[in-house]
Amino acid sequence: MLNGTTAEIKERTALRINPAKTCQPIGAMYASLGIHGCMPHSHGSQGCCAYHRSHLTRHFKDPVVATSSSFTEGASVFGGAPNLNQALENIFTIYKPEIVAVHTTCLSEVIGDDVPNIVKKAVEEGKVPAGSKVIHANTPSFVGSHITGFAGMTTAMVKYLSEKTGETKDQVNVIPGFVDPTDMREMKRLAGELNVNIVMFPDTSDVLDSPQTGVYEMYPKGGATVAQITSAGDSIATVAVGRFASHPAAKLLEEKCGVPTTLLELPIGITATDEYIDALRTYGAVDVPASIVQERGRMLDVVSDMSQYFYGKRVAVFGDPDHVIALCRFLVELNMKPVYVITGSPGNFFETRVAEILKEQVPDAKIKQNADLFELHQWIKHSFQDLVH
Ligand code: SF4
Repeated sequence: MLNGTTAEIKERTALRINPAKTCQPIGAMYASLGIHGCMPHSHGSQGCCAYHRSHLTRHFKDPVVATSSSFTEGASVFGGAPNLNQALENIFTIYKPEIVAVHTTCLSEVIGDDVPNIVKKAVEEGKVPAGSKVIHANTPSFVGSHITGFAGMTTAMVKYLSEKTGETKDQVNVIPGFVDPTDMREMKRLAGELNVNIVMFPDTSDVLDSPQTGVYEMYPKGGATVAQITSAGDSIATVAVGRFASHPAAKLLEEKCGVPTTLLELPIGITATDEYIDALRTYGAVDVPASIVQERGRMLDVVSDMSQYFYGKRVAVFGDPDHVIALCRFLVELNMKPVYVITGSPGNFFETRVAEILKEQVPDAKIKQNADLFELHQWIKHSFQDLVH
């Protein structure tokens, strides 16, 4: 990559080269897969849906199923209402999901399709079976990124499903952010060690890291159930992990159902993991068990044993904003120096927060949101880094 990057840096405003992000619908599709028995539906042309499905399938090495409104020229001109209406009938008849999560694409957003009204009509016409659900998120790709798409669909779960009955349940909501299924599994494991009852949504563990059994299941056993997401409105509190991916849903849950929120950064490294455990410990009114204290001690031992390899190393970091913020905290804990830090997703908070994290150890770090990898490569060409993460 570096070989093909010119060293001379020019200010670019209308050209993005190798962006460190992708488009909103793929994030919405990933979030939808974290609901049990859900069929993600892409309201647009087949190409978008095929691209997002194949990208997720390639990444997770598990089959990702999603449906499309299959826009052609007619829908592009006259709107996609008939396509979505027909699609809902077909999906519930053929694939029998418990819930369909509709996200829009560039094309349906430019047309201006009114998805809630289209769905309402389909419900009135009996195309959505009684008890089945349809939720939706607007995910135009000319704004935001896969992270805002994920946040939008997670917020839609709260908007359409979560309810307050008035009877508080002994459970804590955890909104895990746009992380790998194995990360979600680990957050659940820690809650289990603490003996705190949690409702995690979305939850792609056991969906996109499901075991090989030789039997194909369109709806694997994982995912938060509709009933669990509904009950999130009765939880003691919400632990939202990641400002960019999780806070909008938690904020809506607080406004809609009065469930208080603790906003955390991703539990990467010692301090941030301590904060995650402390939040669950506090809401669950439990003590931290010896097993977690020992794990923490082993981690500290690794950090101190290896400190000679970490100390002072200059690092370039890029990735999703919540991950990069958390990684920068971890790198500072390791006495490393994140000198170049970018994310492809937009959001001024990213620059403010990373600058705050680095102000003591790396006050002259270059930090940029809405950036691309071409620019990061140029920075690296100007000044060599020990490690690019
Ligand atoms: S950028 Fe727009 S047109 Fe391209 S795949 Fe994403 S939603 Fe579809």
